[in-house]
Amino acid sequence: MEDVERKIKHSIRRYKMIEQEDIVAVALSGGKDSVVVLHILHSLFKDRPDIRLVAISIDEGIHDYREKTLKTARQICKRLGIPHETVSFEDQFGLTLDQMTNVGERAPCTYCGVFRRTILNRTAKALSATKLATGHDLDDEAQAVLMNLLRGDMERLVRLVPAKKPGLVPRIKPLRSVSEKEVALYAIVKELPISFDECPYVSFSLRAEIRDMLNVFEAKHPGTKYSLMKSFDVLTKSLKKEDVDLRRCETCGEPTMGDLCQACKLLKKFFPS
Ligand code: SF4
Repeated sequence: MEDVERKIKHSIRRYKMIEQEDIVAVALSGGKDSVVVLHILHSLFKDRPDIRLVAISIDEGIHDYREKTLKTARQICKRLGIPHETVSFEDQFGLTLDQMTNVGERAPCTYCGVFRRTILNRTAKALSATKLATGHDLDDEAQAVLMNLLRGDMERLVRLVPAKKPGLVPRIKPLRSVSEKEVALYAIVKELPISFDECPYVSFSLRAEIRDMLNVFEAKHPGTKYSLMKSFDVLTKSLKKEDVDLRRCETCGEPTMGDLCQACKLLKKFFPS
């Protein structure tokens, strides 16, 4: 437990994730990672009146899955006395993820990722948050690095490095050096309310394949995930970071590189007129 907390504190300090007067919005799905982030940030900063925590949960509308994790999210916020906001795809975009998946041509995780990012940024801004903390752990980060390398998607790879952009609440990932297994063990030993349910759409994602591949590698060659992240940290120092000027989406006003943000482009397919 001490080792997990030490690693998290070290990441927060090293990457200057949280500073004086920050309002930190925690993206809280109710899964183990996000519950552990909320719990640890609360224990680290509960005696600091200058730092405030709020939690944001998103109800994508995934039948027989999200209801359970949202219950857990409400429980942990109540236990820790943290203000909690829940926002749904249906209220924001007029459709649930299940409905989008039934009628749309894209994979569920594509819709989910794009719309979730939009809601998180929008809601964090509405709550005046200065940082947005997500529960990405070492496994998630290593998967994202490998996935972008295998796709040859350098732009997305560089985007994994935190950067300040106007209109975007800066993201922080306090668990980036803690493995998924350690996070799960931490949650169990600390008796945190967590949901181990898995999203029914997970098998559709490329990430799931990469996850399985990395786990096989890690079992055969322990330390693979750490090594991958170490290489990434070295690599990003030499990668040219394009200073892209973000514009405002013509429809919703969210930051975008083109005329329309990704969410509005996808929504146009569902509501053409
Ligand atoms: S597995 Fe895909 S659809 Fe399910 S919560 Fe994750 S990103 Fe969303």
